[in-house]
Amino acid sequence: MDIARLTVDQIRADLDAGRFSAEELARTALRFAEGENPKTNACLRFSAERAYEAARRVDQARARGEKPGPLAGVPVAVKDVILTKGVRTTAGSRLLEHYIPPYDATAVVRLEQAGAVIIAKTNCDEFAMGSSNENSAFGPVRNPAAPDRVPGGSSGGSAAAVAQGTAVLALGSDTGGSIRQPASFCGVVGITPTYGRVSRYGLIAFASSLDHVGPFARNVKDASRLLQVIAGRDEMDATSAFAPVPDYVGMLDGKVKGVRIGLPREYFRDLASETGDLILRGVEKLKKLGCEVREISLPATEYAVACYYIICTAEASSNLARYDGVRYTTRSKNDATLADMYRNTRGEGFGAECKRRIMLGTYVLSAGYYDAYYRKAQKVRTLIARDFANAFQQVDAIIAPVSPFPAFRLGEKIDDPLAMYLSDIYTITGSLAGIPCMSVPCGKTSAGLPVGMQVLTRHFDEGGMLRLAHAFEHAGGVEG
Ligand code: GLN
Repeated sequence: MDIARLTVDQIRADLDAGRFSAEELARTALRFAEGENPKTNACLRFSAERAYEAARRVDQARARGEKPGPLAGVPVAVKDVILTKGVRTTAGSRLLEHYIPPYDATAVVRLEQAGAVIIAKTNCDEFAMGSSNENSAFGPVRNPAAPDRVPGGSSGGSAAAVAQGTAVLALGSDTGGSIRQPASFCGVVGITPTYGRVSRYGLIAFASSLDHVGPFARNVKDASRLLQVIAGRDEMDATSAFAPVPDYVGMLDGKVKGVRIGLPREYFRDLASETGDLILRGVEKLKKLGCEVREISLPATEYAVACYYIICTAEASSNLARYDGVRYTTRSKNDATLADMYRNTRGEGFGAECKRRIMLGTYVLSAGYYDAYYRKAQKVRTLIARDFANAFQQVDAIIAPVSPFPAFRLGEKIDDPLAMYLSDIYTITGSLAGIPCMSVPCGKTSAGLPVGMQVLTRHFDEGGMLRLAHAFEHAGGVEG
């Protein structure tokens, strides 16, 4: 078996034909992943015991003649901000280095109910804060396409594992681009569903009004299958939506003729030329498939970075207050007084980026500055959402870049937080609006670096988004 290239359909066919059992596949996948992982540091740990148990359940169900779940036997990696009962979950932080969750995230429960085999927990920026995976307390991840470059972040490990072939599917989380941007940098498919489409229960909170759980895969169909499994109302998450979940795979029918596509003028202005050229070639391809393309405007875009970094830091400062040395965490040894215990636990446990955000967030929420920053940012957020609502009266989908440039070099931006923040410009708008958005591979630069094209649609129209991305991929992308 070509373990690094397996797809969900192939696994199903191989299991049906008896070419291997789920347990054999799990063993091969784990051995391969353990061997390959030192090249990228994508996985922080492997969950062999849990994987074999899940695989055996699949084999036993098949032996009893039961219908296998839609992801039966499929090796999956899970970002280390998503809770796995009994399997250490660190959020990429020293503070949670020894944390063993007492329960599973809903997405994890649903994965295993569908027969998936969780083989690893993946590296990420600390508490999902970052765009390069360099903020992980457990070392950076290398981009499988170019080992001297970042895989993107914060879900860099999940994207790299799927690109590298150590997992067929992966779960990530996206607050302002953390699924789409690493997917783009690593050349895989990454989906940020509508806010509320997938339960956040068991996702370690960064900025709750922006946090999403979503899929990574090597093709649109596999990503759709994964979304199908994890989507839908969950009574454990009050913000999860009641909206019914359609048959996403059934919607991958190639019918994109007449689909109206908008290109936001503001997004194509200062694009690095090769990235811009590839996206425009992608748009040409969509035209050939019968889509109608027109220019649109999203005028509030210029305020998006400022707005996002006020709201996300405000929410982060509140969410991260729970790591106080009393619950969850590794406690500092310098705990002579209660104040020392808090101060030293947090001082020693959090990395520089988390501290920066806690301080920024505390500042924008403070009595004297709340109106000037936080309240103003909430208003801007409404304007950004309104921009999209207006655009979707004229078009069915928006095509945009994911990142202004392809994967940058390790160390290139880490000392310049503002440059890092500014690179999120094309992804945070969709996050602020809560609409579904994804990255689909759109060719490579002359240096061989992958570039992703972003597709955005109306709230809960993941089906339309996936149909478009699938038609594009099926037609060979920009290379076809
Ligand atoms: N890069 C953005 C940030 O640093 C987005 C992170 C995310 O989506 N989790 O906040």
